Amino acid sequence: MFICVNWSYNLGVFTKVGGQMKIGVPRALLYYKYFPLWDAFFSELGAEVVLSPQTNKRILNLGTEAAENEVCLPVKVFYGHVLSLKDKVNALFVPRIVSVEGGAYTCPKFLGLPDMIRALDVDLPQIISPTFDLKLGLWEFYRSVYELGGFFTKNVFKIIMAFQKGLNKLNSFENLLHDGHLLNEALTGRFSPAPRGPLRIGVVGHPYNIFDSYVSMNLIERLQKKDIRVLTAEMVSPEIINEIVSNLQKKLFWTYEKDVVGAVFHWLDTRAVDGIIYVLSFACGPDSLIQILIEHEAKEKGFSVPIMPIVIDEHSGEAGLVTRLEAFTDMISRKAVKEKS
Ligand code: SF4
Repeated sequence: MFICVNWSYNLGVFTKVGGQMKIGVPRALLYYKYFPLWDAFFSELGAEVVLSPQTNKRILNLGTEAAENEVCLPVKVFYGHVLSLKDKVNALFVPRIVSVEGGAYTCPKFLGLPDMIRALDVDLPQIISPTFDLKLGLWEFYRSVYELGGFFTKNVFKIIMAFQKGLNKLNSFENLLHDGHLLNEALTGRFSPAPRGPLRIGVVGHPYNIFDSYVSMNLIERLQKKDIRVLTAEMVSPEIINEIVSNLQKKLFWTYEKDVVGAVFHWLDTRAVDGIIYVLSFACGPDSLIQILIEHEAKEKGFSVPIMPIVIDEHSGEAGLVTRLEAFTDMISRKAVKEKS
């Protein structure tokens, strides 16, 4: 690891001229999917990874003031994290993630994210924004990895080793999720015993909504305090998800939304949950389409598990959430008792 004097950006490579290179990673959006990979990769290449703080009121306000009003809440939150980091780092990591598997894309917001951030009317450090598009094939993907590593070193072997270490970290993280751990616990390595009450609720939606405690208004913690076991889509293996979505009448072209649909139908098929809470972002196109698809398919197949959508935006208040959660958990609790008697 380079721990010396500074760094400056010169001819495409950060060269040290004093102090360890600091790369800022906003704690938002795809941080919740890939941070273990990014963290290990950059650290192996000698950079210091600086993560923005947990979302708070100040970060949300920064984001909502800077972003266009029409964009979804998670993108506004991302803006806030970028702005909270900008004066603390030499560069910001804002990848353009187009596709992470053949035959499906990510949300269009992820494609335009680096351009949206560069268009901000503030002084920003260097934005490192490699394009990852697995639909173009593995060769192009690894070329992007090399270009990204090339910001720190021209040693190809070192880049490959750093990426491999990142993949190993990502695999370990995903294995913890598939073993039934909650995402925040798998990310931090701090595990608590799961509630042992009889009720189980599946909580689905984008991980950057559900696992950002400020954005979700502590939804998961509130359920756990009622001794309810929480299941999330991340706990369902990709094999199960792929099998379920391949049997749907409608082909899904969004990778992350496939996880939501696959998890919901897996739980319904296996009667794994007593109720499902679907957290949606206001102004999210993919979320609204998937919500209709889930409700339609669940009705067609005759499933009777209650599903409660919760739509969030920057104006959502705790009081409304608490009231709805109380009503929902009371209802599924009564239903469970009735079904057992
Ligand atoms: S999927 Fe929806 S919530 Fe996520 S970035 Fe895209 S529009 Fe926003």
